[in-house]
Formats: sequence, structure tokens, C-alpha cells
Amino acid sequence: MRLIFLFLLGIALLISCKESSAEIEKSPASKTQEKKVFQEGSVFVDNKFDGARLNGFKQLNDSTYQVLITPENTPINNSPWFSFRIWSEEATKIKLEIAYAEDYKHRYIPKLSADGTIWNPMRQDLYQVDTISGKLMLELRLSPQKLWVSAQENLNSAYIHAWMDSLAQGASISKEEVGKSVLGQPISLLKVKNGSPKYSIIVIGRQHPPEVPGGTISLVSFVQTILSDSDLAIGFREKFEMLVFPLLNPDGVDHGNWRHNANGKDLNRDWQAFSQPETKAVKDWLTNAENIAKGGQYCFGIDFHTSFSGPYLLTLDTIPHQVKPELTTKWINQIESATKQQLDIRPRAQSLPYCYNWMINALEIEAVTYEEGDEIDRAIIQQRAKDYANELMKVLLEKYN
Ligand SMILES: [Zn+2]
Repeated sequence: MRLIFLFLLGIALLISCKESSAEIEKSPASKTQEKKVFQEGSVFVDNKFDGARLNGFKQLNDSTYQVLITPENTPINNSPWFSFRIWSEEATKIKLEIAYAEDYKHRYIPKLSADGTIWNPMRQDLYQVDTISGKLMLELRLSPQKLWVSAQENLNSAYIHAWMDSLAQGASISKEEVGKSVLGQPISLLKVKNGSPKYSIIVIGRQHPPEVPGGTISLVSFVQTILSDSDLAIGFREKFEMLVFPLLNPDGVDHGNWRHNANGKDLNRDWQAFSQPETKAVKDWLTNAENIAKGGQYCFGIDFHTSFSGPYLLTLDTIPHQVKPELTTKWINQIESATKQQLDIRPRAQSLPYCYNWMINALEIEAVTYEEGDEIDRAIIQQRAKDYANELMKVLLEKYN
């Protein structure tokens, strides 16, 4: 049943990609959401929290309501993030339609939470997707207690900063600001450094706001594995430092954007132009001569994302003469033999303006983009990140011993 649903959703997405291109070109740019409590009779919804996306609310009939979700600007990928709270004066059961602007189609299975902290995917029999219109219909039991409804767990900038702050306590882990976003939020670096390590690995996350499964859940598990008390991790940290930029797009995350930063730009297409303060801050820090002199030699980079069809790894289809894909190939082989699963590897052109291409071309290190899947079980995501981190540490220790 679940497979059939995913299959239908896949078809809907394919159709939407084909049909919407003409529409989105003529659509107006830059829509903002007004932060407020919407009311229809005794039912309320609001978007007054970081990470929310809700642009309209109306009652369609006695028991059916509709929320409208619009992107921050267009054209944009079909990654329609929604996140809001809903409640009623008295306990009641309603139908709620989630409608997306401009023919964008439903993508994410709704996640529910009673407190904004513990999230669960909605029960499959309580929602339906109209594959023609792309709308989603939910059955909800409302009460005076606010119910959170979100495309993915709402892991916003406060969550990611709290995680960084919880780690940056001891002498070997520090948090520093390397620049500011368009709206003045910090672009932070979590630096894990024991003494004078010889080498450095670079970890990037949340360039794309809705990509919580890979961009945060997987990244956190990956980093925690390298910070663990295993002999492997302890040995690794004696030789390698880790430079983690876990939140490249704090404005996009907190404004509930579908993809872009506050200037309406896709940050993972900006690693040649560096027209945005977020990408420029990371580039400037990593290429700053003083930082290079103080740190280890860069040796590997990984940029965390999420896709409808993940998990997979983006690698290169052409290899520059400076960088041979030695580590990446070994790493993939070791993951495959440790997990007894074949990885989905998707080579891309070296000339693309993605972050990992920049690390390969400009820093002359091996790098990959890691894409998790939208709806993969979170425990599986965490375990996969752990396996990837463990095998990467082994490969790097073997090469740089
Ligand atoms: Zn992405």
C-alpha cells in the first residue's frame, strides 16, 4: 500500500515537473508570509514560530478547511514546505486541505507533533493525495491544545544552534561566527580540534531549508559518530580536525522557505558566483590564509542534502588532473561491504556550481554531495550516517597514516 502510494506520488511529481515550467516562468517573484493567527469560526491556525510556512486559511464547507502554501519566490523546485499549528475552541474532527500555489504538487508526508519537539509521520489512512490537483487532504482531531503539522520535523535555527552549543563546551570543540546571512543571522562553524591535527574534513548542511532528513538528522548523526568515544573516533580526532558548517541558510530555514535564501537565491548554485553572503562567508573562511596556516590540510568534504529519490551520493563524472577519486572509491567500496548494500552513485559534471564541485575544483580535495530520502525511517537515516562516518574515518586513517 505504501509502495503504491509512493509510486503515485512519484508519478504526480514527474507530471508536475513537466507541466509547471511554463506556468512558473510568468509567476511573480518574492512572496512573503504575514505572521498571524488565522480564524474561521472556532478553528484557528498560526505561523508565529521560526520555520513556519502558512500563507492563507479559509473554510470550504461545514467540516472542511483549507490552508494555502506559497513559495518564497518562483521559479522554484517542487519542494513545497508547510509548517503551522492548528487548534479549535472545542474538541472536533475536521478535514483540512493543503493547497499549493501555482500548481505546485504535494510532496511530503505530514509530520505531527503535540509540542514541536517529538514528531511522528501521519498515519497513512488519515491523509489522501489528489494526484491530479496535487492537493493533500488530512483528517484531523482538533482540541484547544495546538497541533503542529509540518512537512518534516521543524528543526529550525534555534534547534541547530542548541545542538552546536551543547557540543561546544570543552576545549576541543568551539563555535565561531564566520559571517552573517542576508537578514543578519550568524553563519556558524563548529570546529572540532584536538591539539594540532594534520588534516581537516569539511561538513556542510542545510543549504536547502526543507532538507531536514539529510541536512540535519543525518549530519548530526555523522558528526556525533566522529565525536564518539569509540577507539576509531578517538584515534581519528588525534590526526584530523572537523570543520562543520551545519546551517548555511538560516533565513530560509526560519522563514519556512521551500529552497532559497532571503534573496530568493538557491545557495547550492552559487559556488562559482559567490553572490550571496552565506556562500561567500564559508568560501572566505576556508580560503583565508591565516585559517589555513592554523588548521590541518583539507582532505575531504561532504555536503548533506535530501531528495525525493534518496539516498544517493553525487560524485564527479569527469575527474580533474589534480584530484583522483581514490578516497571516494575506497569509501564507497567499504560502505558497500560493511553494510552489504549497493550504493546509488550519481556522477555529475565538474563544471556545476554546487558546493562539492567547488571543494573539488578550488580546494583540490575529494568531496561528495550526500542525499538522503524524504521519507526514510529516521533510525535508518541515523544508522546510515554512522556507517558512512565510520568507514570514512577508516579510509582517511589508512591513507594518511
Ligand atoms: Zn539540496
